[in-house]
This record gives sequence, C-alpha cells and structure tokens, in this order.
Amino acid sequence: MNRWNSYLENTLIYDPNQCVNCGRCIEVCPHRVFISGSGSVVLDKKEACMECGACERNCPVSAIQVDSGVGCAYAMIRGAFTGKEECGCGDGGSSGCCT
Ligand code: SF4
Ligand code: SF4
Repeated sequence: MNRWNSYLENTLIYDPNQCVNCGRCIEVCPHRVFISGSGSVVLDKKEACMECGACERNCPVSAIQVDSGVGCAYAMIRGAFTGKEECGCGDGGSSGCCT
C-alpha cells in the first residue's frame, strides 16, 4: 500500500532566538516535538507535529508558528478520500490523534 505520511511536511516554524525557555511548549505538546535545551528549547521531532496549535497558543513570545487545523483532522479526511493510510505520526494512538 502506498503510505502517505502527512508528518513529513507540516507548517511548524520555530524561532529559537525568540524563545525565553519557559518550557510551556514541552508541557503542552502531545507528541513531544520539543525538548529542553540550554537557553532555548530544541525542535527535536518536527516530523511528529500534528499541527494542533497548542504550543503556538501557549508560547508567551510567539516563537512558534503553526497553521493549526490542517494536521491529523485534515489527514483523516484526505485519507478517507484518497483511500490511503492517513496517519504516520508513529504515536500508536496514545495521544488520541490516530485512533
Ligand atoms: S502544534 Fe501541537 S503537535 Fe505540533 S509541536 Fe505544537 S503542540 Fe506539538
Ligand atoms: S513556549 Fe515559547 S518561549 Fe516557552 S519554551 Fe516554548 S518556544 Fe520557548
């Protein structure tokens, strides 16, 4: 089967120069996309982002931008129309996005 992985391409943009290292994005991200770093967090698994928008909404300095609402939900709808598997986040459903 031709597996389509929406997570290889997403709209997540992070500017470490603006980050004040508050850690909110790490706390709210269901896919552990960000990890702790020295001075600023590190965008560790961009491909795991499902574009939920939680990090952007919780970042106090707008260091993160993401076009939310086009990730998992969009992938499921597209998968239904194309007949391809829609979710490639690899989370096994633990975050509720691919159940
Ligand atoms: S948009 Fe959601 S999944 Fe993506 S990095 Fe932010 S909190 Fe994590
Ligand atoms: S929420 Fe924003 S300021 Fe806080 S650690 Fe994440 S990117 Fe940095």
